[in-house]
Amino acid sequence: MDYMGRIKRLQEGLEVDALYVSNLPNVRYLCGFTGSNGALLVGPHAAWFLTDGRYRTQAAGEVVGAEVEVYGLPDQLGAALRRIAAELGVARVGFEADHVAVAAAERLKEHFPGAELVPTSGLVEALRRVKEPEELDKIRAAAQLADEGLAYILGQLRPGITERELAILLESHMRVEGAEAVSFPAIVAAAERSALPHAHPSDRIIEHGRFLLFDLGCIVDGYCSDLTRTVVLGHADDRHREIYELVALAQQAGLDALRAGRTGAEVDKASRDVIAGAGYGEAFGHSLGHGVGIEIHEAPTLRSTSTDVLEAGNVVTVEPGIYLPGWGGARIEDLTVVTESGQETLSRSPKELIVL
Ligand code: ZN
Ligand code: ZN
Repeated sequence: MDYMGRIKRLQEGLEVDALYVSNLPNVRYLCGFTGSNGALLVGPHAAWFLTDGRYRTQAAGEVVGAEVEVYGLPDQLGAALRRIAAELGVARVGFEADHVAVAAAERLKEHFPGAELVPTSGLVEALRRVKEPEELDKIRAAAQLADEGLAYILGQLRPGITERELAILLESHMRVEGAEAVSFPAIVAAAERSALPHAHPSDRIIEHGRFLLFDLGCIVDGYCSDLTRTVVLGHADDRHREIYELVALAQQAGLDALRAGRTGAEVDKASRDVIAGAGYGEAFGHSLGHGVGIEIHEAPTLRSTSTDVLEAGNVVTVEPGIYLPGWGGARIEDLTVVTESGQETLSRSPKELIVL
């Protein structure tokens, strides 16, 4: 990974004397640190990584492109920051306003005495949008494990099994096959519960003649995947087929609309229009998709209000759904890479209606 290049790109756009980066996914992106406590102070020509003594060995092994400063506990972070800030002679220090609580912002004032604290938003996130080839390889591997997880779990369906049991089997399968973690708790939603876009697996037993929805993903080398498929158990009636086909058409319309230069809102509309045109607009109550990378939800977003302009190398989901309370719902979600002329779909799971 080109950590030095990332820090350099951040420095090039810096409108403050130093930027204090405390959001852990951003810290990881910039210098490679994977622990749970660490921050970066990025100056115009150098960067410092600060962590506590528990991470001395890990930081020495992981951190690239920044000088490692290990401080003592309890909170000697302030002393370390004051020393570096004095060395640098900073007058304006940026901090990540989206990720710093009010109390932590107050403490920052003490850590940078005399300096003006400048709220910033999305500086590192903007860099993270366009994935490097190595990042794409990791996302591809995570997408493949999700596909394999889905194929595995569809082979585990049997009468009497619950959503919760399926979720556990699915998650452990991905872990055994090489995922370092799940990217979010798997959603397994049976029958009428498939109408809940964010259902938590319950003791509901899967049921013949009803939808069964799986939304799953895992993490490989720090990068996430995300996949949704909806199947029908035993027998699909006309309504299942109508709803499923409509979602599949809308999903394809979303994929077809993807390309560099389009806005998130344009892509959302292309897919949403298909569902709304068939009279189900009210039944599709969430955004079309989201960026995926170190985090399961990151920039850019595909939603009706999104002004994000897509660039080649963005990784996004396309995941329309139709949800009919009390009856059930269907969603189809693929992970894709935006290209200059369109997109490359990373998810490989079949999309025709599967009746099991
Ligand atoms: Zn998902
Ligand atoms: Zn998603």
